[in-house]
Amino acid sequence: MEHQKYERTLVMIKPDGIQRSLIGEIVKRYEQSGLKLVGIKMTVPTVELIEQHYLIDPEWRMKTGLKTIESYKKKGAKPPSEDPLVITEIILGNLKKYMTKGPVVAMVWQGMHAVGIVRKITGGTEPLTSSMGTIRGDFTIDSYEVSDIDGRAVRNLIHASGSQDDAEKEIALWFTPKELIDYRLINEAMLYDAELSGILGQ
Ligand code: ATP
Ligand code: MG
Repeated sequence: MEHQKYERTLVMIKPDGIQRSLIGEIVKRYEQSGLKLVGIKMTVPTVELIEQHYLIDPEWRMKTGLKTIESYKKKGAKPPSEDPLVITEIILGNLKKYMTKGPVVAMVWQGMHAVGIVRKITGGTEPLTSSMGTIRGDFTIDSYEVSDIDGRAVRNLIHASGSQDDAEKEIALWFTPKELIDYRLINEAMLYDAELSGILGQ
């Protein structure tokens, strides 16, 4: 098995993150965790790319619909539909509009537990309930309820891969192998070197 220090995940700063001037702050949060940035670019996505991106996980429609219904019910509110697939059809349409409105910054972060660590730093999908200390909790204020009333996607600054399997597919969709840099970062010795040798002189 490949060492976990090679785990990778795709992160995207969505158009609202760029417009809120949060690129530096967001990159800083992932960078200071110890993960290594191995690819980065700014691009304006096409509708086709966004559709492919969200449909990479065949379960995405069902999972996202159920997550939305559960969130409404937890707050004692009535979801826009009881059918998860009806909900995600609308969400996907809104995502295609939102994600193509301006530039995004796509990044690949690599390191031990990259997928899980990035999801933790990013916070839950809905900013209203994402924890303080996470990027979504600290820097924005949207909710499913208001975004649904307004007929738009939740503006939550970031996309981050949901699993290692999705991450591999999403990275292949957004980056060519040449755009990903294989290099050593000095910090990695401190994170991964089992012996921790060479700090003190002989
Ligand atoms: P992402 O995939 O963007 O990292 P996520 O995994 O936290 O976010 P998903 O459930 O995959 O969330 O939903 C993808 C995106 O669709 C969300 O980030 C959000 O912008 C939008 N979205 C999800 N659910 C809703 C909803 N109920 N109403 C409006 N927009 C939604
Ligand atoms: Mg997702």
